[in-house]
Amino acid sequence: LVVLENVNKYFGDLHVLKDIDLEVARGEVVVVVGPSGGGKSTLCRTINRLETIDSGSITLDGMPLPAEGKALARLRSEVGMVFQSFNLFSHKTILQNVTLGPVKVRKTPKDKAEKEALELLERVGIAAQADKYPAQLSGGQQQRAAIARALAMRPKLMLFDEPTSALDPEMVSEVLDVMTGLAEGGMTMIVVTHEMGFARSAAQRVVFMADGQIIEESSPEEFFTEPRTDRARDFLSKIL
Ligand code: ATP
Ligand code: MG
Repeated sequence: LVVLENVNKYFGDLHVLKDIDLEVARGEVVVVVGPSGGGKSTLCRTINRLETIDSGSITLDGMPLPAEGKALARLRSEVGMVFQSFNLFSHKTILQNVTLGPVKVRKTPKDKAEKEALELLERVGIAAQADKYPAQLSGGQQQRAAIARALAMRPKLMLFDEPTSALDPEMVSEVLDVMTGLAEGGMTMIVVTHEMGFARSAAQRVVFMADGQIIEESSPEEFFTEPRTDRARDFLSKIL
């Protein structure tokens, strides 16, 4: 579904993505881990073109990522993204947050968009919060709303960038449960997370990134029990 070939990205003199090759098949769940500053967020952001790349290629469904206009708007709707901070529109209700994209971008009739939004809110377990504003929800509920909002666009791919790292510990599992459900439902997902339980139970593959490079790519089982590189062993000794 997504193929990155020889992708390089610089911020000024800083080489943040170095010859990245990565392929994610339809229905696959890939967890990306690695030390801070390694390029994980930048990698995610290049895939929905929040960042441009300096060389190499990225294709989605065999098509190069569009640079602008309607095609770029469509790409953004096909690639859902959930960040560490929930990024909901604070002056809109949860229901409005979820229907906004489908109504504005996909031209879905409002009543249909609302019906679908309520189904999604049901699925992520916050249907009762539909008419509240983001500030009235807990962090875990807000993050589940952010997931519902991305899903409302019927994405082909979901990118998660440390979706649980801003949450109080007791709210982490409710968000991971939603993500696990998505993974089981066949969603293609790239997930930056240090939640090893999630990686082990939901991911087919772990990609270890450091210094802008993919250092190691293996099954979760192999990565967590027998990392191949010293870099990965060193990283794991710090987080486990
Ligand atoms: P973390 O685990 O802390 O989230 P990360 O692996 O997500 O780290 P990135 O956020 O992708 O790392 O950052 C990679 C490198 O690029 C870092 O050195 C960072 O300081 C730098 N960087 C990121 N965004 C920008 C930007 N907009 N302008 C300049 N440098 C940036
Ligand atoms: Mg990051």
